[in-house]
Amino acid sequence: MQPRTMRAVALLALSALMTGIFIMRLVQLQVFQYNQWAQRSTKNHVSKRVLDMKRGNIYDRRGDELAISVDTYTVFLYTREVKSLSEAANALATVLPMSREEIIAKVGDRSGYIQIYKELEPNLAMKLQKLNIPGVNLESHYRRYYPQKSLASNLIGFTGAEQQGLEGLEKLFDKTLRGYPGLAVQEDISLSESGPAQMRVITPPMGGSNINLTIDSFIQHVIESELAKLIEQYDPIDATAIVMDPHTGEILGMGCLPNYDLNNFGEAKPDTRRNRPATDFFEPGSCIKILAVASAIENGKADRNTRFYCRGFGEMPGRRIRCHGAHGLVDTDKAIAESCNAAMMQISQMIEPSMLYRTYKKFGFGDPTGAEVVAESNGIFRAPSKWSAFSPSSLSIGQEMTVTGLQLVQAYSAIANGGNLIRPRLIKRITSPDNEIREDFGPEIVRRVISPELARSLRRMLMGVVEGGTGKMAMLEDYTAGGKTSTAQKANPRGGYFNDKVVVSFMGMIPAMDPRIVLLVAVNEPKGDERTLFGGKVTAPAFARIADRVLKHLKVPPDRSLTPEAREEQLLKNNKITVKQEIIKLPNLISQAHASVASSSVSASDTCELVPDLRGKSLKAAIQTINRRELKAIFEGNGVVIAQQPPPGRPLPNSRILRVKLSPDFIE
Ligand SMILES: [Zn+2]
Repeated sequence: MQPRTMRAVALLALSALMTGIFIMRLVQLQVFQYNQWAQRSTKNHVSKRVLDMKRGNIYDRRGDELAISVDTYTVFLYTREVKSLSEAANALATVLPMSREEIIAKVGDRSGYIQIYKELEPNLAMKLQKLNIPGVNLESHYRRYYPQKSLASNLIGFTGAEQQGLEGLEKLFDKTLRGYPGLAVQEDISLSESGPAQMRVITPPMGGSNINLTIDSFIQHVIESELAKLIEQYDPIDATAIVMDPHTGEILGMGCLPNYDLNNFGEAKPDTRRNRPATDFFEPGSCIKILAVASAIENGKADRNTRFYCRGFGEMPGRRIRCHGAHGLVDTDKAIAESCNAAMMQISQMIEPSMLYRTYKKFGFGDPTGAEVVAESNGIFRAPSKWSAFSPSSLSIGQEMTVTGLQLVQAYSAIANGGNLIRPRLIKRITSPDNEIREDFGPEIVRRVISPELARSLRRMLMGVVEGGTGKMAMLEDYTAGGKTSTAQKANPRGGYFNDKVVVSFMGMIPAMDPRIVLLVAVNEPKGDERTLFGGKVTAPAFARIADRVLKHLKVPPDRSLTPEAREEQLLKNNKITVKQEIIKLPNLISQAHASVASSSVSASDTCELVPDLRGKSLKAAIQTINRRELKAIFEGNGVVIAQQPPPGRPLPNSRILRVKLSPDFIE
């Protein structure tokens, strides 16, 4: 016989023997000694009790509490030990938020182990214990509590009545957090013996592990407060922002509004509970153009000096895609900076469909990122066999595909970190109940996507977008930034696109050439004047504010220093040729009636002599403000105000003349 077979036979024999012994003992107890045991059982009241385990806590990266288990106590009255119910009730009423009568009514004519009060706070439980009332028993439990209420709620999720994770990380890491319940036996030795009921712990409960997230509560708070401003200003369906460290894959903040109070999850609508940056997808629009350029360059079909000519639209047999204004002769950098659709269409025709497919696929589109989130979506990115003749041109401007916010952040991180696709992570560390490190997680590179040199060129192009292209409104005073605005019309399920339903976003990195963070801000169906609903206007200012606060929090040294004046000057100096119109004496564009309404609604802040904020306004709206304030202005360009001199909030110059620059090319 083989040694292995011998071992198996030996094991089989052993287990047969054990089973035999067990059955014999069972027969002995159940049959021969039945009466003896039954007698003991009636004599002694024995009950098993499950001991609550303490669920592990969830902390942010610095140890701030996000989800904790707090002690609570349940108060029982054991009627057999109560000497006088009215005395016990009197004593209980001094501590519990219940009246003596309520306590007596709760007991009624019942006897045994009766629950009087649930979820008593630890300090009150201590008081009660000191009173030492005969028959009063306290049982400790744990309750899940979320000290930061709605902060990162879509990410963290919550637990049910049995402490089981039902949503978010609480659900995904339920096993890690949960621990094991213990077992105790409650023995009431005999009725004749007085004295408290005895609890004997058979197995002590084992607490769950703690989790440290990669999230930084401060950054999360910055994100959510900026998103709240966007919600207030544009009343969208929802708004999302993600901050990721492109070098480690650590997500430092990921928020979406509306969200909900985790301590009150029962009242939240299911829609507000979803972790939308990971579950919801949308057409990416223009921010994908940089990847079409990457594909052309890495396949040797174009370089940064390749010239394209834009007559205001791109054309191929059967299809025309409009640009906003004719961009004329542009090189690759300029095509990205101006978000030129015509150039993109030409690029999509220069490369093979399989090249475009491979590049996008390498950047992670169509696949989940693998971040620790519930129900991550893949987005939609079809194989070339399912493409039409128009697909390459659509894909080059971010149509015919859908992405999640997380996927976009992952793709841009590869550009930011020198060409590696990195897995976004939410879990930094797992520790034991006594805070010993069990697992520490580090960066996980999925694959190399592009060369460091190409990544660097792409970063420079993205910097051009902010420093002199369609992303100007994202310009920061203390840091350079690179990124891309997007205004994607939402696809109509019946075919075509909605004109008035858009997802606007700003996807970028800061500082531009040596990024410390990658940041996405996206707003789903902002409401307002159709002309001003574009990515640059809606999301770029929020992008700049979040980036500035996060980088200062991370103590990233500024890589430049622009005064507000210098920043506005830089915006004004932009070399884009536009129609120059000088308006010193303003035409009265508003009717008399309208003007009187406007002047009657002048608020206190309007009357003090500071420069008004015209940025983001249409020409007409800007003129209204100028007229109302009896100022003069030199307008340059058409479209929407992108810069002004002096900047808003400064004292008015004696001349009362403002220089105002407008640009139509925010609209993509
Ligand atoms: Zn163009």
